[in-house]
Amino acid sequence: RSNAEKFEFQAEVSRLMDIIINSLYSNKDIFLRELISNASDALDKIRFLSLTDKEILGDGDNAKLEIQIKLDKENKILSIRDRGIGMTKEDLIKNLGTIAKSGTSAFVEKMQKSGDLNLIGQFGVGFYSVYLVADYVEVISKHNDDKQYVWESKADGAFAISEDTWNEPLGRGTEIRIHLRDEAGEYLEEFKLKELVKKYSEYINFPINLWASKEVDVEVPADVDETSEEEKSSKTSSEEENENEDEDAEKQPKTKTVKETTYEWEVLNDVKAIWLRNPKDVTDEEYNKFYHTLVKDFSDEKPMTWSHFTAEGDVEFKAVLFVPPKVPRDLYESYYNANKSNLKLYVRRVFISDEFDELLPKYLSFLKGLVDSDSLPLNVSREMLQQHSSLRTIKKKLIRKALDMIRRIADEDPDESADKDNKEVSSDNDEKKGQYANFWNKFGKSIKLGIIEDATNRNRLAKLLRFQTTKSEGKLTSLDQYISRMKSGQKDIFYITGTSKEQLEKSPFLEQLKKKNYEVIFFTDPVDEYLMQYLMDYEDKKFQNVSKEGLKLGKSAKDKELKESFKDLTKWWESSLVGENVEDVKISNRLDNTPCVVVTSKFGWSANMERIMQSQTL
Ligand code: ADP
Ligand code: MG
Repeated sequence: RSNAEKFEFQAEVSRLMDIIINSLYSNKDIFLRELISNASDALDKIRFLSLTDKEILGDGDNAKLEIQIKLDKENKILSIRDRGIGMTKEDLIKNLGTIAKSGTSAFVEKMQKSGDLNLIGQFGVGFYSVYLVADYVEVISKHNDDKQYVWESKADGAFAISEDTWNEPLGRGTEIRIHLRDEAGEYLEEFKLKELVKKYSEYINFPINLWASKEVDVEVPADVDETSEEEKSSKTSSEEENENEDEDAEKQPKTKTVKETTYEWEVLNDVKAIWLRNPKDVTDEEYNKFYHTLVKDFSDEKPMTWSHFTAEGDVEFKAVLFVPPKVPRDLYESYYNANKSNLKLYVRRVFISDEFDELLPKYLSFLKGLVDSDSLPLNVSREMLQQHSSLRTIKKKLIRKALDMIRRIADEDPDESADKDNKEVSSDNDEKKGQYANFWNKFGKSIKLGIIEDATNRNRLAKLLRFQTTKSEGKLTSLDQYISRMKSGQKDIFYITGTSKEQLEKSPFLEQLKKKNYEVIFFTDPVDEYLMQYLMDYEDKKFQNVSKEGLKLGKSAKDKELKESFKDLTKWWESSLVGENVEDVKISNRLDNTPCVVVTSKFGWSANMERIMQSQTL
């Protein structure tokens, strides 16, 4: 084309496209849901802008927020169009080729290892999956602020952009014309597209329309001829019949019905949002599917659990929260700095944002889901929304519900209760067995961070803590279980910190405690040291680090006697040790075989904490 401007793809993007083009990945279907998801995002954007500027949607067809799919079998073209925000010339250049997203190289790396393309959408490069099925793609786009342009590429390292002077004007939005490869002919079959939309895009919140063929009965005049050669010849062969026909002609109309193919728009998805439905009417299967659409994760793994509820009162909202099946990418990376978008926010069914940090605290950012509120204003800026007083109430309720949901994972786990009160484990609960341990291994760190960050819910979170102890025999146990096993007269909850259970088991600090049959918690995660600076007590019991000053194991009559008889030795130790490094020397009853031990002062760092701090400054 004469007015085409050529551009080269950014190197990482080019590499990604090469990999996709040459991929042997068998599930090529995924391209469709990626393009539909982009269309849906574009529609969300224009709808959001239209909240503050009604004019922006335009009128007539332009105002219809929908997605359309058309098939051109003859030319082997599948097109997907939306009436979303569209792209300016500059958008086309940046978004589709020259600016690599942060996820690009991460995804390229992952691809090279696993060859699994399924997660492409999560890495922010879903568009390029179109080259799984195409050898040539045209993107026609019209943004309100610019003319209509065509982006095109054969994925040969370059793309071209031209002002569109030949296609029909789009009004607004984007049309992707996919020139299918020979072996991708199945995507020209209507039933295939219907199946894929049902499977992957059922919960897109805009109608997805297919220009679908339909067999209809049409009346045609009986003599103008649609009759087959055979019929004709049989008629003319018999004089008698001809006479009869003439007679019948008086009674019967001179028309007949034939099948004809026509086309019309057919809606393929169920546009009713799942979160507006009554939870009783939504099946597990539907929640699973909804989860996959929501997080753009189409692996076979199902969410661990979910909570779907309506909050009523001053602030009304509906929400669905999910515990994902695995730890999200980058969850703990730059934990305190990065924006952690976790929940999608809708206001009266209108998508507002998925980068709204005010909905959940950081420690719950592993949860996925959405919130739709009628109590928030629609036509204000994002900044004003972020400061809206209802948000605090929403956040508070969401945290409660989230913690209840996590608690339920434990409550339904027979492994957890079996230990508690020796209940018989029924076999229909088998699939729930070990589910809390699974949760804990993946997200336990988040619960610990919660105890540090969230003073209001500290006790609720502490209930969710699991750890091993000197008596847990390799299993996880809880504070409630620990307390139920406490010896009579034991006031404090004993714990020790270190790098591993194996190392701690040999610790001289445990000698006497073990001998006296006290249970001691092992805390072996670096974050545990911080955790225990915040978790001072639980159910009126104090925590006592057994390597620190203050351990009380009950007094004995001999204590005083011992103190007296070792007075001189103690004095001698004091005079030679107390100074910069040693604060005090004391007789104690905490040891058994070991003659002496270095103890940390009550408010000082434990030896383990010293170690952690040192490794951090190195
Ligand atoms: P992501 O959707 O995660 O951002 P994609 O690779 O799927 O990544 O799309 C890249 C970008 O291209 C999008 O962020 C968007 O800016 C733009 N884009 C793609 N499809 C459309 C569309 N139908 N309408 C408007 N913009 C689009
Ligand atoms: Mg996308």
